[in-house]
Amino acid sequence: MTSTFLSFLPRPASWLALLCLACGTAAAAAPPPTPLEQLKFQRISTSAEISAYLDAIAAAVPFAKKEIVGESAQGRPIEALAFRLGDAQDGPARMTIMVIGSQHGAAEPAGGEALMVIARDLAFGDLKPLLEDADIILLPNANPDGRDLGRRANANWVNINTDFVLAAQAETRVLKQALARYAPEALLDSHESAILKRKTLARDGYLTDFNAQFEIANNPGITPDMRRFALEDLLPQLTARVSEAGLPAHRYIGEIISIKQPVTNGGLTLRNFRNTAGMSGAVSYLVETKLDSREDSFPTYRNIGVRVDRQLICIRTFLHLMHERRADVLREVALARQQGPTARIGLYAGYVVDEAHPKVNIPMRRLDTRELEDIEFRDHRKQVVADEIAMPSTLLVTEHQARIAAVLEQHHVVYEPLAEPMTVSVLASRYAAQANITERVPLLSAESRELVAPAGTLVIDTAQPNGRTAVLLLDPRSTSSVFRYPEFAKLVDATRDHFVYPVFKGVARTP
Ligand SMILES: [Zn+2]
Repeated sequence: MTSTFLSFLPRPASWLALLCLACGTAAAAAPPPTPLEQLKFQRISTSAEISAYLDAIAAAVPFAKKEIVGESAQGRPIEALAFRLGDAQDGPARMTIMVIGSQHGAAEPAGGEALMVIARDLAFGDLKPLLEDADIILLPNANPDGRDLGRRANANWVNINTDFVLAAQAETRVLKQALARYAPEALLDSHESAILKRKTLARDGYLTDFNAQFEIANNPGITPDMRRFALEDLLPQLTARVSEAGLPAHRYIGEIISIKQPVTNGGLTLRNFRNTAGMSGAVSYLVETKLDSREDSFPTYRNIGVRVDRQLICIRTFLHLMHERRADVLREVALARQQGPTARIGLYAGYVVDEAHPKVNIPMRRLDTRELEDIEFRDHRKQVVADEIAMPSTLLVTEHQARIAAVLEQHHVVYEPLAEPMTVSVLASRYAAQANITERVPLLSAESRELVAPAGTLVIDTAQPNGRTAVLLLDPRSTSSVFRYPEFAKLVDATRDHFVYPVFKGVARTP
């Protein structure tokens, strides 16, 4: 598809001829208007329009390629536009940056719309120089069914961004494929946040007033050095620069649905894409920009023009900062990926009251007057990590192998079934299951013993890229464990040893 959008362009022959004389490039190289620009901002783009636009960019410049990563539940393609300069220097100083848009479909379309502008600026505009040092992968429409069905969830009414532990949805698996395929060192997952929450916060008489919020990958399974780098080094720069560009930005505050709730930061488990990407060793952020009230009137469809501009400030700042700090990013990512098999791993994560400052004032907007007012919240932004363990070298799965193998495959964890029974020194533990992601899981007993692992036991070497993820998925104490979900929780039997056995010194093979 090359014609639809290009045919809308004014292309005076003489101007093109001059361009060709000046630069010696093909006549096709002219920046196409985005679907939203063509629509004069009166509705959001459809998935087909986005797809056609990616084709138009890919057809116009040789260094952009449209790649189909997978399919949605209803069979729509989920596509990435990959920018790679063919003649660019490959080597240790080169990085891959990935930006994901519109996981929340038609409810949060601005990220996807903005990524089409970003694509054009990479192909023709001022972002192109970044490609000298970075491959840039844009995945603007992560939930095409949701976009076309006019909803936040996917076609099965599932919020994709809570599905990354079970990975039961097609879109979730495609995003995991994208992570595996492109192995980005830096990732931004772009969202919008409605200021008017009619069914919740509005009942208290308030709107939120956040313009741009950024969150790091904060799961405690992510190495401490990486979390520190993302939170204490890069994040302040990111929010300061976005603020300087005119959009007040700060660290993400967990969704406020009542003025009486405590406030936290972002979700801590691997259910969300930000943490899933962080577990791959990438520097991973989420951004949420303001989504104006649907009850106000604006010159463009639900203020989509301004909403796209907010996204553009955030995404452009992110790209520039990652590019500028690429030496540090590459060093920290390499370190995180190296430390994976050895650094201790925190299984339980939660938020508690911060005794150092138990209250925090947050400016909220009154619904009736639209005036700003400071509201005092209980401050629960202190993160607690518990059940921290040494990284096992191996995990053995002695029962329910088919179900666990399916989980491992969704998470790109490599395993090997035992051909013959084997005697191994393991840590045998009993747990009381919890089918939720908030409570501690009691460890009832733990003892080192010799186990005769039967043939068919799954052997998972944790010294692999997704080794830490495997531990978080399979230890019932982890708040990211599959055993936190009812269908797997019922496999945990408090009266006998749990069928996933950690081994701490390598598998001693004594057949
Ligand atoms: Zn969202």
